Amino acid sequence: MEALITSGLEAMGLTGSVPQNAPALLARYGGALLEKNQVMNLTAITDPRDVATLHMLDCAPLLECGQFSGKTLIDVGTGAGFPGMVLKLLTPTLSVTLLDSLQKRLDWLEGLAADWGLSGVTVLHGRAEEAGHDSALREQFDFATARAVADLRLLSELCLPFVKVGGRFLAMKSVDSEKETAAGLPGIQRLGGKLLGVYDYPIPHTQVTHRVVVVEKCHATPPAYPRRWSKMQKQPL
Ligand code: SAM
Repeated sequence: MEALITSGLEAMGLTGSVPQNAPALLARYGGALLEKNQVMNLTAITDPRDVATLHMLDCAPLLECGQFSGKTLIDVGTGAGFPGMVLKLLTPTLSVTLLDSLQKRLDWLEGLAADWGLSGVTVLHGRAEEAGHDSALREQFDFATARAVADLRLLSELCLPFVKVGGRFLAMKSVDSEKETAAGLPGIQRLGGKLLGVYDYPIPHTQVTHRVVVVEKCHATPPAYPRRWSKMQKQPL
């Protein structure tokens, strides 16, 4: 896994912006994920090569979408830590909050961070639409990220309330997400955001190209948002 991650980071031009031991750390994380996956459902991806590419190298290019050193990030619907844990391992000074509505994966992530002596990793069990109204979390983060959690119209409502004015919401999407992105624009604006652009990247050693939708938070999110999940689904912004 480590050699594949090393050459992948090189191919993406990221080697200079990550610590020298980043490939080893990501490979160790991938190994721990596969080991735990035998007894707990953490990922559908079970081939180490695919873990290296479709998890680790898929998340790494977010580094091109902001300046993360010394910043704060909340990963909404983190699951087994994607992309939040990968970004933490690539940027040691980043403080990450890993939010999910399922406790057991968070327990695993918390144990991993403790075992490895990682500081700046907080796990948070809850639903984003509720946590987004907590004053200790609302508009407190430089970045909110999400991969494979919801359609952009719903995802913006889950994520943008957490982002400080001047911060960024980074949504990981497929390259055929044009319609989804266009449909999400009115909601993004309503929630205080502005589309800065999209960043497409081929994942090295695969035929897959993915996209980051980059949204800047320009003004505070109106207090009514996020709404209840059922309301969001019935009336997406
Ligand atoms: N982001 C990870 C990844 O890409 O591997 C996990 C993706 S998984 C398909 C979606 C995750 O989002 C699940 O772990 C689920 O519990 C979480 N989730 C979905 N809706 C949520 C919500 N409203 N608040 C918090 N977590 C949520």
